[in-house]
Amino acid sequence: MARSGSKNVTRMPARRSQSGSSSAPTGPVAVEDLNPFHIAQNQFDTAAQYLKLKPWLREILIRPKRQLIVSIPTRMDDGGYKVFEGYRVQHSIARGPAKGGIRFHPTVTLDEVKALACWMTWKCATVGIPFGGAKGGVVCNPKEMSLGELERMTRRYTSEISFIIGPERDIPAPDVYTDAQTMAWIMDTYSMNAGATALGVVTGKPLSVGGSLGRHEATARGCSYIIREACKEMRINLRGATVAVQGYGNAGSIAARLLHAMGARIIAVSDSRGGILNTNAGIVPERAEERKRKRGTVVGLPETEKISNADLLTLPCDILIPAALENQITVQNAHAIRARIVAEAANGPTTPAADRVLFKNGIKVLPDILANAGGVTVSYFEWVQGLQSFFWTEDEVNKKLESIMIRAYAEVQKRAREFNVDMRTAAYILAVGRVAETTLTRGIYP
Ligand code: NAD
Repeated sequence: MARSGSKNVTRMPARRSQSGSSSAPTGPVAVEDLNPFHIAQNQFDTAAQYLKLKPWLREILIRPKRQLIVSIPTRMDDGGYKVFEGYRVQHSIARGPAKGGIRFHPTVTLDEVKALACWMTWKCATVGIPFGGAKGGVVCNPKEMSLGELERMTRRYTSEISFIIGPERDIPAPDVYTDAQTMAWIMDTYSMNAGATALGVVTGKPLSVGGSLGRHEATARGCSYIIREACKEMRINLRGATVAVQGYGNAGSIAARLLHAMGARIIAVSDSRGGILNTNAGIVPERAEERKRKRGTVVGLPETEKISNADLLTLPCDILIPAALENQITVQNAHAIRARIVAEAANGPTTPAADRVLFKNGIKVLPDILANAGGVTVSYFEWVQGLQSFFWTEDEVNKKLESIMIRAYAEVQKRAREFNVDMRTAAYILAVGRVAETTLTRGIYP
């Protein structure tokens, strides 16, 4: 992923994706703006044009409602203090409380968080759940921090943003390098200050503190349902279909496991340290997960050969799942993508210029705001269960998730046909149309 804080750059030389291929094309340098917020604006503008929205309404809809930057002084294990920078952006509360994950990563920037917050608004609207959009991030490297340091940093960050979050205001969840434990600390910190346990303040919590069955797998499960619908439409038999997965965390590893259980052959997977390939027999996802758990990377799994993250993206396969970070498929490598379907488990992995190349080449992109919406959908279920203190079975959760994902796929597909556009534009037309309608019906205060 390219650094994304270059606010004033409107056109800049495209940089190599973070996967850093040595085989990147060496021809003339393409120009492409990789700032995620500019990309989010660009995607919004395309839909706004189809919907013929008035300029003033466009401005209201795209601008984040609230942006908070906080300093997080944290006691480190050596007795010293380090001050981390954190963000919480609420893009929209038009359709309900703001909702979105928290990311701990060294390259987090305010513009990245703004983009991720916008995408949450459109994602919730695409699947029709009553939330707005938000996102949070802390610039840090969790891989170099102890559990104690992470806990102290998380608790102070929670305290700093506590006056804008809450069960009816803004509900965080896990994202890159945050997990159920992080959510438990956030819930506890918020609750200690409120003087009462607030189950609804975060989702993605451990089961022992009010989490929902099925939440851990929800992003990947939702993605697998969307892939299954696309395969039906394209007459691709999932049994035996070949799959490559970039990023082997919550979204990627579970997507590999679920698709493998549906009969697909996982030919390649990767994480931040590189990728592995076995085109003949395929990779058993559970073995790769075990390797990552024990050694910190999938690389080195027996009976696989090593490949780079960049080479994984251009493998011939039926389904490519980017499940890591933004800006992985850019104008530089889009022409080399040989998958039939690109299912975006990650947020923002494909740039608008790359989208156009993929569309022209007949590759079906299942956009992030549809393909990874399973996570926020089950977060919604978790929030509802927490508010009612009445918990559902895993089967109930999965069945409700499946029906929402199937409905959303059909609604996006309908717009793709109606407007003769790709699935991303269709999803944006659906989502932006819904948020615009709510905004106009509520009226502009005062
Ligand atoms: P995670 O922290 O569980 O996993 C991230 C994975 O990506 C790790 O395996 C890491 O090694 C790998 N990675 C990091 N940098 C990489 C690189 N440059 N190349 C290849 N792999 C790299 O995070 P996650 O929750 O699985 O999130 C992954 C993506 O999915 C993000 O874009 C996130 O916003 C999106 N997402 C997650 C959820 C969720 O519920 N967790 C929901 C919707 C979308």
